[in-house]
Amino acid sequence: MALVNEHFLKLPNNYLFADIAKKVNAFKVTHPKADIISLGIGDVTRPLCPAVVEAMHKAVDEMGTAEGFRGYGPEQGYEFLREAILKNDFLPRGIHLDIDEIFINDGAKSDTGNIQELIRWDNSIGVTDPIYPVYIDSNVMIGRAGVLENGRWSNVVYMPCTAENGFIPTIPEDYHVDVIYLCYPNNPTGTVISKQELRRWVNYALKNDTLIFYDAAYQAYITDPDIPHSIYEIRGARKCAIEFHSYSKTAGFTGVRCGYTIVPKELTAATLEGKRIPLNPLWNRRQCTKFNGTNYISQRAAEAIYTPDGRQQVQQTIDYYMHNAHQMLATLRKLGFEVYGGENAPYIWMRTPDAVSSWQFFEQLLYGANVVCTPGVGFGPSGEGYVRFTAFGSHEHTGEALDRIEKWTR
Ligand SMILES: *Cc1c(COP(=O)(O)O)cnc(C)c1O
Repeated sequence: MALVNEHFLKLPNNYLFADIAKKVNAFKVTHPKADIISLGIGDVTRPLCPAVVEAMHKAVDEMGTAEGFRGYGPEQGYEFLREAILKNDFLPRGIHLDIDEIFINDGAKSDTGNIQELIRWDNSIGVTDPIYPVYIDSNVMIGRAGVLENGRWSNVVYMPCTAENGFIPTIPEDYHVDVIYLCYPNNPTGTVISKQELRRWVNYALKNDTLIFYDAAYQAYITDPDIPHSIYEIRGARKCAIEFHSYSKTAGFTGVRCGYTIVPKELTAATLEGKRIPLNPLWNRRQCTKFNGTNYISQRAAEAIYTPDGRQQVQQTIDYYMHNAHQMLATLRKLGFEVYGGENAPYIWMRTPDAVSSWQFFEQLLYGANVVCTPGVGFGPSGEGYVRFTAFGSHEHTGEALDRIEKWTR
């Protein structure tokens, strides 16, 4: 008899974006003429930039010739891309990585979900709350998260990030967490971490032998010079952190699929006997067994982001979205809403007025202004009483949605 992995059955069967779609559809049935604008989408909308398109065309043509054809590539990714990453994303920040510390992925979601295979089932995990759901759900699936009680997993340490603490999670100084997930700039709150704050996390990790999984998917949106783009800007982080990058939100690669993961060679974890085991060869072994590499065309596309034209064009796209973010911040503030994020990240995190619940506000906004947001509680218990707006729409739609919100609030 094949027995199922029952840990999957513990996952709540409501998926946030499916619930939103259900409520939006119910609204459409009763209001067939209403024209709804979504500021809830987590996907980008701007097309790929010309430098990327050109590189992809060229790669396709190569693949169509006997000389240029490529079959299986290296599981870790092609050297041309790993070199470009070293030279462009790290060296200018004074970070010296070895090429073998870079693993090209097919987007950061896979690796942020899979990385937990490297650690024993009984490690404790800590997350900032609210969070990107992949971190917890991937641990639930293998039984590390315990059971769900009142919206919290029994074996997960939640570190609340709310307006009250300035969205800076309290470091668990008086107890020990084995593995901590951090995401900065943050999805969903759009808030960032300063070098000084991040240094405190690295020091905690070094002192407590904690492993940090650092998700830097939105680092390209940082404009403030004191905000770190990589955890390796902090001394000692190479001994305690794995970092994830993605081209999805940077360069519109949500459909192309490419990113990378850094596993430093100095990084180790202990066996029960206390022996130190380097994680870089373990991750390499895992990838060689379960992953056959990101496709050549996507890797050439990613390489093109680092050319002078590519850089400039990608920056234009980021500026486009950030223009939306600034409009949203300005308008929502003017209307008296309490808003956060949106300065170094494409997300606006808004406290619901009059302490209404996330879902209640979601419905009020849908029925009152025909605008869709994302209920904050969908990202964790501390997201209750907040909603998320994304800056990934067009200028036209974003402007129109803000006009409607303005009319609705009068
Ligand atoms: C979008 C996103 C990712 C990356 O997704 P991929 O498309 O798989 O690269 C990773 N982390 C967070 C927090 C995200 O929001």
